[in-house]
Amino acid sequence: MYKAYKFRLYPNGWQKELIHKTFGCSRFIYNRYLEKKKALYEEEKEVLSCFDMIKDLKNLQVEHPYLNEVDSCSLRCSLFNLENAFKRWYKGQVEYLKFKGKYNSKRSYRTNCISNTYKDKTYQSIEVDLKRHIIKLPKLKEVSIKGYRKLEYLPGKIINATVEQASTGKYYVSVLVEESDVYTKLRPRNIIGIDLGIRDIVITSDNEKIGNPKLLEKYEKRIKRCSRELSRRKKGSSNYNKTKNRLAVLHQKLKNARGHFIHQITKKLVIENDIIVTESLKIKDMVEEKRLSKQLINVSLGELCRVLEYKAKIYGKKYIKIDSFYPSSQKCSRCGYKNEKVKDLRVRSWICPECGVNHDRDYNASYNIMFEGIKKYMMELK
Ligand SMILES: [Zn+2]
Repeated sequence: MYKAYKFRLYPNGWQKELIHKTFGCSRFIYNRYLEKKKALYEEEKEVLSCFDMIKDLKNLQVEHPYLNEVDSCSLRCSLFNLENAFKRWYKGQVEYLKFKGKYNSKRSYRTNCISNTYKDKTYQSIEVDLKRHIIKLPKLKEVSIKGYRKLEYLPGKIINATVEQASTGKYYVSVLVEESDVYTKLRPRNIIGIDLGIRDIVITSDNEKIGNPKLLEKYEKRIKRCSRELSRRKKGSSNYNKTKNRLAVLHQKLKNARGHFIHQITKKLVIENDIIVTESLKIKDMVEEKRLSKQLINVSLGELCRVLEYKAKIYGKKYIKIDSFYPSSQKCSRCGYKNEKVKDLRVRSWICPECGVNHDRDYNASYNIMFEGIKKYMMELK
């Protein structure tokens, strides 16, 4: 299975310059050989093969020494791109073969990962060090990257890397990795347990709490006020209709804001983790909080789980729901001691009488949920 990991790239001054040079050279190579290919085909109905082009490229590099300043692999990749485009045109899948302009084409280049053995050591032309947040690319040497904070290393063999500059001016590098199926099935590296709550809607075993956005609260208050107003109005009157419309707009706004919020959290969770574990919803615990209505929380949490489930599917991740009868809050996540006193929802933190660990109520629950999820996952593998 191939998977692309896209990082934000932070080249320094000379690296930026070299990246742009490489864009330019790749474009130059593409256009030059497109012209040659076209001419040869039109005049003699002959096809200039990829092999011929690569052979010719070597002469060209002697003729134009500046081509040697950039990653030579990126130039060959440019020829492969041209070859593919030409094939598509040959088969009639595209109508024209376009030249790449400086402003109307994507600013990008690709380079393949090549292994070299030197003094019994194997070196890769592309290496990613996620601990130091660095990618090593041919000619550019080490460039800072940002992304996939929680991965320790890329899970598989690097095939190639594509450097690009988006229209916003930001630089990115997309690293294509071949993951073996066994690896992805048996060794998920990022497992996250999530306790779904009221004040904090998501509490993760990575010690992160995400609260309900204030915006939802605001809309809900307005909706309450507006519904009260509606009940006072005379049915069918023009004021009644006005209020009714306003209420409908508010409901839509609430729905949009909630949808956006849920999309943001779930996307982050699914991208950063391989296995995501939650409990099935516990409605009974949710009576406590007066600030937000029960209904609002239920809709949010229900929606969150639903979106999490389908996004996990899209990204090829695993979503596990564990039984809500499992005493996730009461159990010490370190030694397993069950503390009945924690049943009381007012207990926000507690010290385990057995092993002495000081627990935050919510984080402890999310650790337990994670462990229970791992257990369930292992059972499924058997
Ligand atoms: Zn304990």
